Order: sequence, then C-alpha cells, then structure tokens
Amino acid sequence: MKYNPDENGYFGQFGGAFIPELLYPNVKEIEDNYINIIESAEFQKEYRDLLKDYVGRPTPLYYAKRLSAKYKSHIYLKREDLNHTGAHKVNNTVGQILIAKKLGKTKIIAETGAGQHGVATATVCALMGLECTVFMGEVDIERQAPNVARMKMLGAKVVPATSGSKTLKDATNEAIRYWIQNPETFYLIGSVVGPHPHPDMVARLQAIISEEMRWQLKEKTGKEEPDTIIACVGGGSNAAGAFYHYLEDENVELIAVEAAGLGVDSGESAATSQLGEVGVIHGSKTILMQDEYGQIVEPYSISAGLDYPGVGPLHAFLFETKRAKFMNATDKEALTAGYELSRLEGIIPALESSHALAVLPKLDLKEDQVVILNLSGRGDKDLETFIKHLDE
Ligand SMILES: *Cc1c(COP(=O)(O)O)cnc(C)c1O
Repeated sequence: MKYNPDENGYFGQFGGAFIPELLYPNVKEIEDNYINIIESAEFQKEYRDLLKDYVGRPTPLYYAKRLSAKYKSHIYLKREDLNHTGAHKVNNTVGQILIAKKLGKTKIIAETGAGQHGVATATVCALMGLECTVFMGEVDIERQAPNVARMKMLGAKVVPATSGSKTLKDATNEAIRYWIQNPETFYLIGSVVGPHPHPDMVARLQAIISEEMRWQLKEKTGKEEPDTIIACVGGGSNAAGAFYHYLEDENVELIAVEAAGLGVDSGESAATSQLGEVGVIHGSKTILMQDEYGQIVEPYSISAGLDYPGVGPLHAFLFETKRAKFMNATDKEALTAGYELSRLEGIIPALESSHALAVLPKLDLKEDQVVILNLSGRGDKDLETFIKHLDE
C-alpha cells in the first residue's frame, strides 16, 4: 500500500527511528517480528476474540438522525466510546500486549499524559497477568487523580516524572531511559508516534475501526465508501484507524481535526500542522511545535488527549501530500459541540471527540453527503470540565 512505511520506516520524508544506540536491539526485535505476528492466524484469533468478548466490538456505526437533520446531510457516528474503558485506545493495548507475550516479555512499561493510555495499558496487563509500570509527569498525576486511582486499582505501578515541565514529554523521556536500562521490558506506546515500527504497528492495530466501517456502511447504505471521514488528532491513532482502509480510496475525503486551544495564533494551542515544523520528537521525524532553537513548545488544549506537541509521521505525510485535510477547533468550539451532541443524540462525547464534532458547522455539507465521524471516546472523564463551562 502507498501509505505503508518503507523498509526504514519512512512515510515520505517522515518517520524513521531516531533512537540511542543502546535501544537498537529492543527496537529491532519488534521490527523483525511485528508484521509476522500480526498477520499470523494465531494472533488474529486471539486479538479478534478479545476485541469481541472483552472490548465489546464491533462498535456500532450509528446514524445520528437529529445531528444529520441539523447539518442537512447524513452523519454516522463510529461509536468507539462504547469500547471497554471508554475509548479507542484499548484496541491498541490489546494488540500490543499480545505481541509482547509472543515476544516472551513479562514486564510492560508505558507513558501517559492524561492517564487514558495508562488505564488502557494497566487494564490489559491485569487481563494477562503482566507487571505494569506507567510513567507519568508529576503535574499530570495531580491533575488526573481519578485515572491514577484506576491504574493503581488495576495493579499498575505509577512512577512520577519529576524533570522538565513534569508532563507527558518528561514521562516519555523517563520511559525511554528505563527501557534502555531494562531491555527485557516491552514499551507499549499509546499512539501512532515513536520510533519505527511503533507508528505502523499501532496504525495496524487501530485499523479495525475502518475495517468495520466498510462492512457496516455497506449494510446500511449499500456502499462501503462515505464521502467524508472526520477524526480528531492528538498523536493520531484514532484518526489512523478511521482512515486506514480508505487511504487509497482517493475519493473519500479525510479530515483530521487538531486542537486550536485558545486559538491557533494565541500562543496557547496544539494545532501542530499549522504551527509546527519538521523535526525529531520521541524517536521519529515528523512535524512538531518547536522554537527557533528546536526546543519543544509546550502545547495547550482543554482536552488532555490532544495536548501533544507533534503528530505521528503518517499524519505529517498525509498533511504534506494533502491526502488529508487538516482543520482545527478551539476549546470553546469543542465545548459547544459536546453539548450539542449530548442534547441532540443523548451521547456525551469525550472532549477530544468534541473537536471532531466542532468542524461540522465549518463544512459546507451537501444534502446527500455521507459523513462518518469517529467518536473516539466517551465524556464521563470530562464532565467536570463541561459543567464548569455550562453557562459560558
Ligand atoms: C487519547 C485520546 C485521543 C487522542 O489520541 P489519538 O492517538 O490522536 O487518537 C482522542 N480521543 C480520545 C477519547 C482519547 O482518549
């Protein structure tokens, strides 16, 4: 496929594996094995059985009638919010934990910002009886107390990262440091980021989303292809999953939505494609927000899951080649869209997913246009934020 990485892990100019030499053996072990494992009948059976009976897949493709009426088009929601643990992230952690087991690993490490990926990782480690260590910035540990409690309840060890800004990028640095010192561990990355082959591996594990969309849409409309697919982008894993099986259908419009925070030019934003430049972050060459000295600029978004200073290399490539259209939504637009979906459809979306919803009024939708919007997660975790802004 045109959108697969080349043998060195590059999507066009983006990707690769920029890692310390001490990590070569770890990364090489995964690189040499991941495709064979994923394509094996044994993996596929275990992965699909778990997705069905543990995660609750297939997730529905729901025709949102009142939302469609409002935007005078046909809008379907891919209900990733109905997965076990409340978002798409578990598709990836279920897959990677099976790969880790096939590689004979018994200890799992992960990094987390908002704690969602930490919870999804702690969940599958409990399921498989593997030791789980999650690195998390000290500031995030304070901010995300409920998720820290969940991880602990699930038996994971949460290690605070106390360097730098004490947030996600510092947790990632700690995890990489630990990985170098403990090569027997498996580093379970939460999005389509990091050194090759992680971006491709995670995209393949999230591709189940668009695999289901194809037959579900056909069942409902007689056609597998919608006109438009919309997904929010933090690192880019739910979008990669929603786009994957449509990448080569050039007639299907792909829309990636980034978080504009207080506004793209406000200095408080996470709209990476608009503000970023080519550079290296967390082991791969991509587009990232950086200052004139190449230092990472702290991103900002009301939504913790979109508050990341880069995008995965596949998305950098989709942006550069214009295969996907990159749009963005502010905090305020996302909050409004979250309330709108709640009241039109009785579905409370995650703040991340609300960013995807927030571009609907900006699109000039046609009456016969079929849109699939990937509803990446549910909003329970964001209720406090939503309620705080209720009267604005
Ligand atoms: C983590 C998260 C995201 C952002 O991550 P991607 O890798 O870009 O998908 C989006 N939505 C929800 C609900 C999340 O938890």
